[in-house]
Amino acid sequence: MKPLSRRGVGSTPRMSVIGVVLTLFSLSACGLPASEATPSPVQPSRTLSPSATTEPSATTEPSPLPSATPTASATPDPTSTPTQTPIPTATPIPHLVAIDPGHGGIDLGTRHFDADGHMDVYESEVNLALALLLRDELLARGYQVFMTRDGDYAVNADRQDLLPDGELTSADEVQARVDVLNASGAELMLSIHQNAFWSNGEPDQSVGGTCTFYCADRPFADENRRFAHLLQYHTIEAIRALGYDPHDRGARDDLTIVQPGSPGSHLIVLGPVSERIVRASEMVGALSETLFLSNDRETELLTNPEAQRAMAVGYADAIDAYFAGEVSPNMGPDDG
Ligand SMILES: [Zn+2]
Repeated sequence: MKPLSRRGVGSTPRMSVIGVVLTLFSLSACGLPASEATPSPVQPSRTLSPSATTEPSATTEPSPLPSATPTASATPDPTSTPTQTPIPTATPIPHLVAIDPGHGGIDLGTRHFDADGHMDVYESEVNLALALLLRDELLARGYQVFMTRDGDYAVNADRQDLLPDGELTSADEVQARVDVLNASGAELMLSIHQNAFWSNGEPDQSVGGTCTFYCADRPFADENRRFAHLLQYHTIEAIRALGYDPHDRGARDDLTIVQPGSPGSHLIVLGPVSERIVRASEMVGALSETLFLSNDRETELLTNPEAQRAMAVGYADAIDAYFAGEVSPNMGPDDG
């Protein structure tokens, strides 16, 4: 719940990031950040052991004993409704949901700059803050939760060339996330990111809003689409309740993203096996571009603890609705 604003920390001249995001929905940071190709000189040798966690009280409630008071001498009353002893039901296994906070470690994702041109907020910390709040919310609702990362580090900590293509790039990092997601056995996955739009070397304050991506090219594409629309709907509802009406950019097929250098390719965390994706994610999933860090007003929300919590509750409401089999009121037959 700590405030995320870090004015003065990690000050970076604005010029250094010109060109980071120049195309709407370029998502340079989201799925394929260009900056990750540079090896980190100080990469901790972390043993990655993300583990599924669950609320202990959610699974171990003992069943009450049946009543020990027999009514042996009761005279049957033909007018009464027969009573049935309830059949004990097994405690359902909580759903396992995976959360993927985009970026981390040396990969900051997209950034926000203060009036003096100093970086004061970056995407990886915002994504992590939202993810940790969502984790807590899901645990409180009885889910099991798996996180691809729960701190500020890269998942591909061993720096493996996972594709393999002879280079260490952001694609290897996302492939590492797909691998741990699959190993977790999660049923549903939410990848959390933030967007940005710059024009003429400046963050464009006229652009903002909420967007959710899914992959329509999977055997479970219908469920991807249903979840993405629920996520889009509930995230926007949560943000509107804060008094801000974000531009609804819709739940969209990830092939609509224009990625520099690779037009028309799926997001690695969502897509099927391809030249760029060695092992595909095996669960229903969506990627939220919750708001724009290039937009000052939206950055205020993304760094406000109360607003962060509201967004996390919005995500959790979408997950509840997904498992309840609901369809978003915003999803039309030809939508997205
Ligand atoms: Zn991102």
